[in-house]
Amino acid sequence: MLFENLGLAPELSRAVAEQGYEKPTPIQAQAIPAVMQGGDIMAAAQTGTGKTAGFTLPLLHRLSQGTAARNNQVRALVLTPTRELAAQVFDNVQLYSKYLPLRHSVVFGGVKINPQMQRLRGGADILVATPGRLLDLYNQRAIRFDKLEALVLDEADRMLDMGFIHDIKRILKVLPAKRQNLLFSATFSPEIRQLAKGLVNDPVEIDVSPRNSTTETVRQKLHPVDKARKQKLLSHLIHANNWHQALVFSRTKHGANRLVKQLEADDIRAAAIHGNKSQNARTKALADFKSGKVRVLVATDIAARGIDIDQLPQVVNFDLPNVPEDYVHRIGRTGRAGAQGQAVSLVSADEIKQLRDIERLINKPISREEIEGFEPDHVVPESGKAGSRGGQVNRGRGGNGSGNGGAAGRSSQSRGAGRSEGKRNGPSRGGRRGNGGQDAPRRRRSPQRDSA
Ligand code: AMP
Repeated sequence: MLFENLGLAPELSRAVAEQGYEKPTPIQAQAIPAVMQGGDIMAAAQTGTGKTAGFTLPLLHRLSQGTAARNNQVRALVLTPTRELAAQVFDNVQLYSKYLPLRHSVVFGGVKINPQMQRLRGGADILVATPGRLLDLYNQRAIRFDKLEALVLDEADRMLDMGFIHDIKRILKVLPAKRQNLLFSATFSPEIRQLAKGLVNDPVEIDVSPRNSTTETVRQKLHPVDKARKQKLLSHLIHANNWHQALVFSRTKHGANRLVKQLEADDIRAAAIHGNKSQNARTKALADFKSGKVRVLVATDIAARGIDIDQLPQVVNFDLPNVPEDYVHRIGRTGRAGAQGQAVSLVSADEIKQLRDIERLINKPISREEIEGFEPDHVVPESGKAGSRGGQVNRGRGGNGSGNGGAAGRSSQSRGAGRSEGKRNGPSRGGRRGNGGQDAPRRRRSPQRDSA
């Protein structure tokens, strides 16, 4: 399948060609024709699959054929859970529509509303928005939906996790009933299926990311280490392996800030990105990371959502996420669009519960490798064998690693993952996340750990 065979408007084909894409990704090959025909779709696809172009290109194609938006009208609405993702989707819209005479806009919370109101006066053929700010603008009559043709819910699972369900329902109530609906989600959980019932009509179902499997192009491994020594191990790995661009995940905002300071003290340029940072600070951190000015970007889960960096080579889990699905999202930052990537987790003994949940979710053990000089005093048990060292662990040589992407050493597989242990240890998927002062949902704000 080639892009030329999809029948996209020549202006879009030209923009796509300029991006150097050789052929549509699997989700694009399925979604583009379905959306061009005007049908509803429900697609399970994570970031990195090319999903954004999968809905943006056919929507732009359809919009280019109709009457342009004016007077606060919106013809296609794309809802995203975070402002980072909104900005990212908007970038894609701009990129692909550069040869089309369409208007587009992006709105999200955390910045002044007036400039957004002004921009919307002339209407938007595509509006990318986070739910809370969209409702504010609608309530202030800055947006009209009478000419709305299409609705996209991007990363719908994350929207539910972040407590946006009430906002979404409010928005659905004010949209015209006759419209095209596109639902994108990392997984088709029961909650997503419930949401889909009231949203999509006879959808084409597309599934390019089988539930809970991790992408094949990402090599995963974990280094057992004592908690207190994680930061020194991270500095060591960065120096020893000469990592130039590593995205490091921290569970908490406070932890992210502290880690940046410690890395800087070890002569490693680093920046943090999380919900307490201003939009400007986040944009700058991301730009510096992309340009290579900073080697390490330390991010919380929610802030990292939607960060779009081509072929990110290295993801590090400084600590494991409490919600196992976040592990899949995190490592999805690397190994994108067919490129090889590596995800390394630094795991201390107190994280065995999280590790078990993750290995059960991805349905395979993560290869483990101890790094010489950083062997833990507190043993990290094999997932299926709490309390004992269990199977072999490999001792890396530490410091001279190369080639296999970590401080070197053959690795062995931990065993026993996926065995039943009765009760789940990790927290449940819903209701455990705050959204760190992002575009806050109206009602449910979880009393949360220092997160995002
Ligand atoms: P997304 O899943 O939408 O976040 O896209 C992930 C990355 O894949 C983005 O950096 C896109 O620029 C890139 N991409 C999208 N479509 C293609 C394609 N057909 N071929 C190669 N790269 C693509």
